[in-house]
Amino acid sequence: MSVKKLFRKELGSLKAYKTPDVVASECKLNQNESTLDVPLELKERIARESVSLAFNRYPDASYSGLREVVARKFKLRKENVIAGNGVDEVLYYLMLAFISKGDKVVFPAPSFAMYKICAEVMGAKPVKVLLDKQSFDLTEEFVEESKNAKVVFICSPNNPTGNLVSRKKIEEIVESSKGLVVIDEAYSDFAGEDCLDLLSNERVVVLRTMSKAFSAAGLRLGFGLACEEAISAMDKVRLPWNLSGLSTRIGELLFERERVFSERVKKTIAERERLFSELKKIGGRVCCSKCSACSPAAKVVVFPSQANFLLFKTSFSPKTVYSGLLERGVQVRDVSGYELLEDCLRVSVGTRVENDKFLNALGEVLNKKF
Ligand code: PMP
Repeated sequence: MSVKKLFRKELGSLKAYKTPDVVASECKLNQNESTLDVPLELKERIARESVSLAFNRYPDASYSGLREVVARKFKLRKENVIAGNGVDEVLYYLMLAFISKGDKVVFPAPSFAMYKICAEVMGAKPVKVLLDKQSFDLTEEFVEESKNAKVVFICSPNNPTGNLVSRKKIEEIVESSKGLVVIDEAYSDFAGEDCLDLLSNERVVVLRTMSKAFSAAGLRLGFGLACEEAISAMDKVRLPWNLSGLSTRIGELLFERERVFSERVKKTIAERERLFSELKKIGGRVCCSKCSACSPAAKVVVFPSQANFLLFKTSFSPKTVYSGLLERGVQVRDVSGYELLEDCLRVSVGTRVENDKFLNALGEVLNKKF
C-alpha cells in the first residue's frame, strides 16, 4: 500500500511553507531581516558564555530566566510568557491548544501565510477575509466574520503591506468576538504603537519575535504573551526542552543590551521614511496609495509602512523589476502572487548604503526600455 494512503486527510491540499530561494546577492532585502548582525563584541561575549554552558546536561526546560526577562520588558509575569523557535513555533502551540477540526478560523489576506496553514493542518474551517483594497485595513466584513470564530488572527503592522491595522477595529473584534484573538506584532518595534494593553482580556494573545528588531532571525526566538491560563494550555502541547540552553542564554544577553537594538530600530525608521520619499521621486511625481493625483503613468507607487519594509509597485511587470534588481545585486521579494498585490514587490529597509544601492538599481531598471 502506498504511504500516501496513510497521510492524515487534512494534509491533502496542503503545501509546505515556501521559503525564498537562497540566492547570493550583495544587498539581501527580501526577508524583513535586520541587515546588520549582532555586534561583534556581543557575539564574543556570547562565545565566552557558551564555553561555560554544560552541553551534556538538559537545560532548564521552562527557561525561567528568559521568560523573566521578557516578562519584565512587557510589564507582565513570567507565567504570561511562552517561547518557541520563532513565532512560527508559538503559532503551532496556539494551533494545537486552541484549534480543533471544524473550528472557524478567521485571518486577513494578504497577510502572513502561517495563519492559513495553522487552520488547515488541524482540519479547521479557514475563513480568509480580504483587507480593504485601498487602505489594507481590516474591513467590517472581517469584524462580522470574527464574531462567531474560534480563533481570529490579526497582523499589525501587517506583512506584506506594512500598515498598522486600525486600533478601533481590533478593539471592536476583541469586544464582539467570543473566540481567541491573536495579534501578531512581529513588526511592532518599528511602529511605536502596540496592543499589549489588550492583554487584560483573557482571550487576547500577542506575538513578538527577536527575528526583526533584535537582529536575531537566525537564533529562532519568538514569544507568545497571554493570560496564565492560555499560556498553561499552550504549555501542555509544548515539546519538552523545545529551546536549547544556548539560544535561551543568548536571548537573555540580547535583552540585556536592548539599547543597541533600539538605536538600530530608530535608524531603520528614519531610513524607511527616507526610502519612502525617494521612491516617490523615482517616477518624477509624488504618488502614493491615497493620492488622488496618482496616474497610471507614474513609475513607482509606494505604500506607507510602519514596519521595517516597504511595499511598492511600478508600471513594469514585477518579474522584470525583480530580475533587473537581482542582476544589479539587490534581492527584494516579489509579492505579486498575493491577493490585492498584483504588480507589487516588497523591500526590507537596509542600511543607508544598501538603500541607496536599491534606489539606484531601481532607477536604472525603470529607465531601461523593455
Ligand atoms: N509573523 C509575521 C507577521 C512574520 O512576518 C514572521 C516572519 N517573517 C513571523 C511571524 C515569524 O517570525 P519568526 O522568525 O519569529 O518565526
